[in-house]
Amino acid sequence: MRKRVIAGNWKMNKTANEVKKFVESIREKVPASEKVEAIVCAPFPYLAKLVEDTANTNIKVAAQNMHFEDSGAFTGEVSPVMLKDIGVTHVIIGHSERREFFAETDNTVNQKTKAAHHHGLVPIVCVGESLEQREADETVQHVRNQVTEALKGLSEEEVSQTIIAYEPIWAIGTGKTASSEDANEVCREIRQVVKELTSEDAAEKVIIQYGGSVKPATIDELLSQSDVDGALVGGASLEADSFLSLVEAGT
Ligand code: PEP
Repeated sequence: MRKRVIAGNWKMNKTANEVKKFVESIREKVPASEKVEAIVCAPFPYLAKLVEDTANTNIKVAAQNMHFEDSGAFTGEVSPVMLKDIGVTHVIIGHSERREFFAETDNTVNQKTKAAHHHGLVPIVCVGESLEQREADETVQHVRNQVTEALKGLSEEEVSQTIIAYEPIWAIGTGKTASSEDANEVCREIRQVVKELTSEDAAEKVIIQYGGSVKPATIDELLSQSDVDGALVGGASLEADSFLSLVEAGT
């Protein structure tokens, strides 16, 4: 039985005071359930304090990006070594906003995914099609390619410990969401690619999330689907109550 993983992606939002209030409101309420894992994906300046403030809870802390090198002359970048050093456990890789605005490619996504595993961080690898690709019936091929490129060179064990987030670009922050059946179909396809690349065992273990305007009102139906193991949530993860309802849906 795979765990449900609910990750809140705050993107470039919140002040230190807002982060403090958020953690205070959820810390005692996130269920210590074996069935669900709650992850908060915060901006870099808040990560170290968040790790401290969520110690001994079922809340994990993730970065929203990182460089693939350990250290060096990369002004403004943050390395996997640094994230690991402060106790971060997960990192989002290749979010569509990074691909669109910061020139991330399948190749950088692959290098970052490998680096994350190398340093014991769990990568949450984002894939998903544009509206044009969906309308041209290219969704499955595009997502299959992105998954294949992202996982190149990873061991079977590493693949099985990767989280893959299927996020159709047209559904992110737009209020439009894929139907649960459509989301499940693509998630099932992703599991199939993982199986083709590695093994049935790895495919059974890999966690596949859906992301794109997920709300407390829509999460139950999504989680009832056979191949959707959780959600990567932007807007609806910013408010503590809403984030808690999403996590509770996974229990
Ligand atoms: C996201 O940031 O990955 C996301 C899915 O955002 P939203 O839930 O706001 O669509």
